[in-house]
Amino acid sequence: MHTYQHPITPYPMTTISDKTGEMMHRGRIEVICGSMFSGKTEELIRRMKRAMFAKQSVEIFKPAIDTRYSEEDVVSHEGNSIPSTPVDSSASILLMATETDVVGIDEAQFFDPGIVDVCNQLAQRGVRVIVAGLDMDFAGTPFGPMPQLCAIADDVSKQHAICVRCGALAYLSHRIVAGEKQVMLGEKMEYEPLCRVCYEKAKREKTS
Ligand SMILES: [Zn+2]
Repeated sequence: MHTYQHPITPYPMTTISDKTGEMMHRGRIEVICGSMFSGKTEELIRRMKRAMFAKQSVEIFKPAIDTRYSEEDVVSHEGNSIPSTPVDSSASILLMATETDVVGIDEAQFFDPGIVDVCNQLAQRGVRVIVAGLDMDFAGTPFGPMPQLCAIADDVSKQHAICVRCGALAYLSHRIVAGEKQVMLGEKMEYEPLCRVCYEKAKREKTS
């Protein structure tokens, strides 16, 4: 006869969600996506700082390509920063994040496709992974590994900027300067958040 054995410690790394009251395991993937100027990095930093306050070990990784502000810090547009490590490939994150409770990944759209498997492996280890990145490029095409990351995530937050032309919620970052290259790091001079209607208008103005 088979008797059911209740596990002595059910699951070692279980928390209760403050949003829903549901039980969660600590190893999980959260994605923060949206257009430029939507506050993605601010939200990533907010979650990381909250974890630091709870004495959890945190580490942020970003692609070595993103050197807009400084080599070592994830710096948001508001100047609210957290130290971070630039890495050349997603595989380096697995090697470097061995003793980390919470792994943050910024500008995830620039990472190689291997980032999807890296996030899964970290979550499997019990790591909380928080990924921030642009969901679409300037032409409205899903950006790099972001669609896959959204798909495997336990939780996805889509952030919105405000359309600079009409004040509605923006849906993408329109490139003001010419150039067709997808990887083009930007600042306020080069991109503007636009809603669908204003983006279509801007496209027509360009071609006419
Ligand atoms: Zn608009």
